[in-house]
Amino acid sequence: MLPLISAKPQNLSPPLSFHFPLFPSSPTSSLPFHPPLKNTLRLRIRSIDAAQPYDYESHLRTQHFKSQSLKIAILGFGNFGQFLAKTFSRQGHTLLAYSRTNYTDTAKSLGVTFYNNPDDLFESHPEVVILCTSILSTEKVLQTLPFQRLKRSTLFVDVLSVKEFAKTILLKYLPAEFDILCTHPMFGPESGKNSWAGLPFVYDKVRIGNEEDRISRVERFLDVFAKEGCRMVEMTCAEHDRHAAGSQFVTHTMGRVLERFGLESSPINTKGYDTLLDLVEVTAGDSFELYYGLFMYNKNAMEQLERLDMAFEAIKKELFGKLHHVYRKQLFGNADEGAGDRPKVQKLLHNGAPPPADAVKPETS
Ligand code: NAP
Repeated sequence: MLPLISAKPQNLSPPLSFHFPLFPSSPTSSLPFHPPLKNTLRLRIRSIDAAQPYDYESHLRTQHFKSQSLKIAILGFGNFGQFLAKTFSRQGHTLLAYSRTNYTDTAKSLGVTFYNNPDDLFESHPEVVILCTSILSTEKVLQTLPFQRLKRSTLFVDVLSVKEFAKTILLKYLPAEFDILCTHPMFGPESGKNSWAGLPFVYDKVRIGNEEDRISRVERFLDVFAKEGCRMVEMTCAEHDRHAAGSQFVTHTMGRVLERFGLESSPINTKGYDTLLDLVEVTAGDSFELYYGLFMYNKNAMEQLERLDMAFEAIKKELFGKLHHVYRKQLFGNADEGAGDRPKVQKLLHNGAPPPADAVKPETS
C-alpha cells in the first residue's frame, strides 16, 4: 500500500483533516492573512499502519537490471543504426545518437536522445560508442570526431560489414586508451525484423583493457545480442572477410543481378522461385553504397566476382554445347555418328583458375 494520505477536496471528516493554503501569504507580505476557504488542498490520513513497499525479489531484479544497462551512443542513425536502436531501447539501455542528417523526431519515437553535433553527444560521456556509418564514410567520420570529450576508457564498437578495414582504421584513429570491439551482426532490418534468434553475430575483441570493469562492459554489450538468441561467433576480422566474401558478397550480388533481371511473382511460383523473390527483397532494402563497400573494402570480393562470372560462362557453354550436338545430328544424321562420344565440355572451374593446358586433349578424327 503506497499512499498514507490522499488529497480529497470534498466530504472530509473534520477531526482528521488538515488544511494547506495553495498560495500561502508570505510573512513579509503586506496583505492580511485570511483563513483558507476555496483554494485549499485538504489532506486526510487514511491509514497509519500500512506495510512499507518492499519486495525483495523485485528490488534485486531492479538492481540487476540497472547494473546491466549501458549508456550507448549511436553514430550514424540511418537504416541500420535505427534498427539496432529498437532492440537496445527495448532492453532498457540509455540511448544517444548523432548523424549528419537530423533524425530528432525518429529518435524521439524510439526513445533515443538525438544530438545535432558530436561534441554535445560526447560530453554526455557514453560508456559505449557504436559506429553505424556507411563503410565508405567511416574513415572520414573518424577523422572529425572530438575524442577528447569522451572518457578515456570508452568502448568503441563498429558494425561495418567488412572487418579488416574497420579494424585497421579504428586502430589508426582512436586514442590508445579506448577499447575496441569489431562486430558484424550478420542480419539487417529485413532478415532480422521479426527475431534475431539463431542469427550469427560475429565479433573480434581487438583491444580490451585488463581492468575488471572494461572486461565486464564488453561482456554486457555482447550480452545484448546473446539475450536476443543470436549465434555468437568469435573470429578474427581476416577470417570473417574470407567467409563473408564467399557468402554475403555472393548473396548480395545474386540479389542485385536478379533485381536487375526483373523477377516477378506469378500464380504458379515454386518454392525455389519464392526463395529467389525473398532474396531480391532482402538485398534491395540495403543501400547500393553498402554493396559497393562490400566490394571495395573486402580484398576477397573481386576473386569471388570473377568466379561467379566464370561459373555463369561455364553453364552457358555446357548448355550451348548440348544444343550444338543436337543441331549437328539434325544436319548430318548418322554421318556424324560417334561425334557424341567425343569430349566436348571442358571444366572451367578449378577454384577459379583455368584448367592446365594438358588437360584439354586435342580431338582425333
Ligand atoms: P549505409 O548506406 O551503409 O550507411 C548509412 C549510414 O551512413 C547513415 O547513418 C548515414 O548518415 C551515414 N553516412 C553515409 N555517408 C556519410 C557521410 N559522408 N558522412 C557521415 N555519415 C554518412 O546503410 P546502413 O544499412 O544504415 O548501414 C550502416 C552500417 O551498418 C554499414 O557500415 C553497414 O556495413 C553496416 N551493416 C548493415 C547491415 C544491413 O543489413 N543494413 C547489416 C550489418 C551491418 P545519414 O543517415 O545521417 O546520412
